[in-house]
Amino acid sequence: MPATATRLSRFSESVIRAMTRLANQHGAINLAQGFPDFDPPEELLAALERATRGPHHQYAVTWGAPRFRQALARKISRFTGLAVDPDQHLVVTCGSTEAMMVAMMTACNPGDKVIVFSPFYENYAADAILSGAEPIYVPLHAPDFNFDSDELARAFAQKPKAIIVCNPSNPTGKVFTRAELFEILKLAEQHDAFVITDEPYEHIVYAPHDHVYCAALPGALDRVITCNSLSNTYYITGWRLGYVHAAPEIIAQARKVHDFLTVGAAAPLQEAAVAGLELPDSYYAGLRELYSKKRDVFLGYLRRTSLPFTDPQGAYYVMLDISSLGFARDIEAAEWFVREVGVAGVPGSSFFREPENRFIRFHFAKKEETLHAAGERLLKLADTSWLARAKIAIA
Ligand code: GLN
Repeated sequence: MPATATRLSRFSESVIRAMTRLANQHGAINLAQGFPDFDPPEELLAALERATRGPHHQYAVTWGAPRFRQALARKISRFTGLAVDPDQHLVVTCGSTEAMMVAMMTACNPGDKVIVFSPFYENYAADAILSGAEPIYVPLHAPDFNFDSDELARAFAQKPKAIIVCNPSNPTGKVFTRAELFEILKLAEQHDAFVITDEPYEHIVYAPHDHVYCAALPGALDRVITCNSLSNTYYITGWRLGYVHAAPEIIAQARKVHDFLTVGAAAPLQEAAVAGLELPDSYYAGLRELYSKKRDVFLGYLRRTSLPFTDPQGAYYVMLDISSLGFARDIEAAEWFVREVGVAGVPGSSFFREPENRFIRFHFAKKEETLHAAGERLLKLADTSWLARAKIAIA
C-alpha cells in the first residue's frame, strides 16, 4: 500500500470529537464537544419546513444563496456598523471550520508562518499544517489569559503572514478588548500580515464584557479576514453554516478556494437560516441572558467542588484545574471523569502548545436540567471519602 501524505503525521484526530465518542460509549453527560442540547428558535424550524417544499434542492450559488447573503449582510451591518455588500464582502461556507480553512489557504503560501495564541482551538494547528503554513505560538497567560506585548512583538518580528485570533476565545473564555485588538492590528499593519479572526461566540459574552469586532476597527478591512458561523447563535451546529467576511479583493480569492473545496453550503438550510438572521435585537439580548444563567448554574457547582477554574468572559467553556487530583496526565483524568464521575470534558493539553496538564475543559451549552445533572455528578469531587474510594491521590 502506498504511504499516505507525511503532513498527516503532524497532527492527530480531534480529541474533542474522540471525547464525544467516549462519552457515548460510557453513557456520560457530554460536556466535551461544545454544542447545545436544545432546539433552534421556532422561527428557524418553521422556515426549515417551508424550505423543504421550495425550489432549494439543487446547488445554491457557490459563494452563498443571494437571499441568505443579503440577510447576512444586513445582520453583520447591524452589529458591526460596517457597510457590507452581499455580492462583494462575503463567502458562505460549511461552518466556521471551512471558513478558517478558506481564510488560511487564501492568505498563506507554503512555508509562511502564522501566529496562533496558545491555548487555542485545536483546528487552528491542523488548518495551518494543511494549508502548508507553519504555526508559531504566543502564550496567553493564566489566569486572565492575556498576551504579553513583548512576546507578541517578538513573534511578529519573525515575519508571519497572518495571526489567528479566536474572540471570544475557545477554550479560555477570554474576550479581547478594543485596546488588545488594536495592538494586534497595528503590529499586523507594521509587518504586513493578515488578521484572521474566528468569532462564532460573538453573541455569547458576559457582563461587563462586550464583543468588539476586529473588522470594525479603523483601517481593519485591508487585512482582517473574519470567519464566523451561525452554529452557536441559532443553535444549529449540525446545519454547518458559516462565512468569511473580508475586503472584495480578498473575497474574490477566497471564493475560488471555497468553490473547489466544497462548492457550497446546503441550499435548503441557507434558505431556512434567513429566518434567524432576521430575528430582532431582542433575540440576541435573550441569548446573552440565557447563557449568563447557564454560566451561573454550572460555575455554581464547580465552586462547590472547591477546585479552581477559569472565569469565562465569553463563549461557553470553562477549564477546571484538576492538578490537586494527582493525575500524571490530563488524558487519564479525562477518561477517569467519563468512567467514574460520569461527565465528559476535554483534556486541556489538546489546546496548549506548552506541556500543560492541569485542566479539563467543560462546556455549558446545555439545558439547565443537563447542567444540574452534570453538576450533581461533579459534586462527588468535593466528597473526600468518595475520592478515596475512586482511588485518587489527593495532593
Ligand atoms: N467548537 C466546539 C468545541 O470546541 C465544537 C468542535 C467541533 O467538533 N467542531 O467543542
